Amino acid sequence: MNLELINDAINGDRRSLARTLSGIENGSISIEQVKQSVSVNNDTESSNWRSLAITGAPGVGKSCLIDKLLSIWAGSGLKIALLAIDPSSPRTGGALLGDRVRISSIDDDALKENIYIRSIATRKSSGNVPLIVADMIEFLHITGWERVIIETVGSGQSEVRCAAIADRIVVVEGPARGDGVQAEKAGLLELADAVIVNKSDLSGAEKHAEELLESFELGLGDTPPVLLTSALNETGIIEAASVLLDLPDSGRSVRARWRERLLAHYERKILESPDLDKILSSLAIGSISIDEAIRTLGGQ
Ligand code: GDP
Repeated sequence: MNLELINDAINGDRRSLARTLSGIENGSISIEQVKQSVSVNNDTESSNWRSLAITGAPGVGKSCLIDKLLSIWAGSGLKIALLAIDPSSPRTGGALLGDRVRISSIDDDALKENIYIRSIATRKSSGNVPLIVADMIEFLHITGWERVIIETVGSGQSEVRCAAIADRIVVVEGPARGDGVQAEKAGLLELADAVIVNKSDLSGAEKHAEELLESFELGLGDTPPVLLTSALNETGIIEAASVLLDLPDSGRSVRARWRERLLAHYERKILESPDLDKILSSLAIGSISIDEAIRTLGGQ
């Protein structure tokens, strides 16, 4: 491990930070090793969140909304990092172009100082993405980024797990499309500490906010805040920024979140087991059962 690189990252050099995050992404740098080799300041414990996932279907306006929120938070002096996981927005041109396009859309130098944006192309990753994201969050905290936002689309198991890694989860929705609150979304909404209905400038947004409140009252547990915003007209953004910044842990998602974390760690344990190849061969020739394989791999 390149200690100089890591120290440079800790001392604020962004190029070194980017290279260290790449190392975490490709498995050549382990966060455990980092923590052993540098003195980590752990006295920042507070009940407030340090990582917040913002998730929702492609096209609901996540990246527009997040850009506005980042400007407000960074403008108030917070050092805030964004990990954008496979950004779906065509505007960003995908994960590779994303960093440059998005950062250049923020034109104030002082703001740029307080914002760090990194895209992660999960399709190129061979590792366990949610856990890579968790390690990246930890390294960003070590290097002084006080709050980390995770932007991810809200469908697919890996994406839900990426959201579940964060301390709080915000689900972004668009205006009502006439189909109510679909069952497929209920799982994600169950994890939400807050819901934002964006595009409030379009008809159907208020109706959808009401539908969401109704469905929460009908049985999804406690009702989280449901906020209306328009990233386009910049309405409701300042209120949303302030609610989200101090968003309490609703408690309603704790078990579901730990379930996702448990599964992610269990999967990593199995995939990183030195016995994996041997066990797969034994399974292939039928000399052990799946239950035996799980006992061997998961129990270490
Ligand atoms: P993402 O895929 O969720 O990140 O969505 P984007 O932020 O890329 O936005 C998708 C599209 O919705 C873009 O064309 C935006 O200009 C548009 N959009 C974003 N926010 C709003 C909004 O509040 N109102 C309206 N009318 N359009 C919006």
